[in-house]
Amino acid sequence: MHHPTSLWHDQIRHDLTPREPLTSHDNSVSWDVVIAGAGFTGLWTALGVLTNNPEAKVLVLDKYYAGFGASGRNGGWVSALFPTETAGLVKRHGLDKALAMRREMIAAVDSVGEWAKTLDIDCGYTKAGTTVMARKPIEVTRANASIAETRKYGVDSLTWREPGETLNSPGLLGATFNPNTATIHPAKLVRGLARAVEAMGGVVREQTTVTKISPRQVTTDRGVVRGHAVVDALEAYRATVSGRKRVTLPLYSLMIATEPLPETVWDDIGLAPGETFSDYRRLIIYGQRTSDNRFAFGGRGAPYHFGSTIKHSYDTVGRVHEALTDTLTDLFPQMGTPAITHRWGGPLGIPRDWHARVVFNTTTGIGIAGGYVGDGVGLSQVAGFTLADLITTTNSHRVDLPLVDTRWPQWEPEPLRYLGTMVGIIGTSIADARESKTNKPSLVGRIVDGLTGH
Ligand SMILES: Cc1cc2nc3c(=O)[nH]c(=O)nc-3n(C[C@H](O)[C@H](O)[C@H](O)COP(=O)(O)OP(=O)(O)OC[C@H]3O[C@@H](n4cnc5c(N)ncnc54)[C@H](O)[C@@H]3O)c2cc1C
Repeated sequence: MHHPTSLWHDQIRHDLTPREPLTSHDNSVSWDVVIAGAGFTGLWTALGVLTNNPEAKVLVLDKYYAGFGASGRNGGWVSALFPTETAGLVKRHGLDKALAMRREMIAAVDSVGEWAKTLDIDCGYTKAGTTVMARKPIEVTRANASIAETRKYGVDSLTWREPGETLNSPGLLGATFNPNTATIHPAKLVRGLARAVEAMGGVVREQTTVTKISPRQVTTDRGVVRGHAVVDALEAYRATVSGRKRVTLPLYSLMIATEPLPETVWDDIGLAPGETFSDYRRLIIYGQRTSDNRFAFGGRGAPYHFGSTIKHSYDTVGRVHEALTDTLTDLFPQMGTPAITHRWGGPLGIPRDWHARVVFNTTTGIGIAGGYVGDGVGLSQVAGFTLADLITTTNSHRVDLPLVDTRWPQWEPEPLRYLGTMVGIIGTSIADARESKTNKPSLVGRIVDGLTGH
């Protein structure tokens, strides 16, 4: 069995023995809900269904094991981020619905911690906020725009901190601080959720590959299972399932972890235990101080693979992992040259319009939740619980969120998908380089904004 090379998987290796695959008995059961994918989405959906209806017969299937995918190997930020910015949500859905979505996301940060506590999952949940640094004048402009947007809508909380009041990074011009971010050990949370689903009467089968999702039926390498509702909780991996290649585009995000660093280094940097950080460059970077005092640090920039292919070998890209180490050293040279103990990556699921969604078709019984880009840790709980409410016809506030839709836009066929995505990836680096020199928004940057739905 292949194991991801992530810090998180490495730290719970004793807990990665896969469960039994689908049995012939399972094929004969008439399930209420069959869920493809045992990541956060599949497991929160299962928990939501079992909470709404404790008698429900729920089956969760995973090709490898619960937490093999993005849910077990992410940056561990439980953030209130939604892939579409607030202004974009207002434009699409109107002010009230947009702000309801923002409030739900902020509540999700606490909710993940509360559920972990209720389910007795020791995943190191720590709510210490996030600091986003500005080290170039154009980054200060972006920080100010974020603060202005926050003030305009009055829901999120973002404050400016001068150098000396925040993290210690060379050339820092200031930073914003958002208290609504927590950190977790993602693999511990996802493995704990799988056990919680079983404790509530659900069945989790691992080592079972879903090959097709059809009305009220899921086809696997171990036969067909039938469910009144059938759920696609495969996120990036749905691109590998028949007929679902163009639903989300798999884009890799890569990470590194350092060896544990001494307290003196953390004192100098000023990063509290469990605090997260990023900066205002265009290329997404994200880091946290782990509970065992390492940096876990990641970023985008890895290539898209033609035909939306996913392979274990794509999890490591020497060039990108080196760039991550250089970026972290540039941000915090005080750390010296610690050993990089882990290098890994995984695919994010990018929807065509960069808007996460929950769709449930009552005629076919097919449900889908996802399209989180890099924000799925908190958002998957909201989406999973929302899908559970739709499946069990539970009348909650969630079913009125703008997350719920009736359609899911598809990506273009190849080679257009490849060309557009590579322009976006390469354009982001070019725009960062130009804009940090000129301190003005560039044409390339505007093209990238258009491609990423901003
Ligand atoms: C490196 C990285 C860093 C990230 N950092 C953050 C972060 O800090 N904060 C944040 O909010 N988000 C982050 N994300 C995104 C977040 O992790 C995801 O949005 C979220 O985990 C998606 O959960 P999911 O359950 O929908 O998908 P997944 O966790 O990917 O689950 C899908 C499951 O489907 C299984 N599967 C695959 N193919 C099949 C098949 N054919 N049949 C059956 N099962 C199959 C997989 O094994 C997997 O377990 C990051 C993602 C990555 C990759």
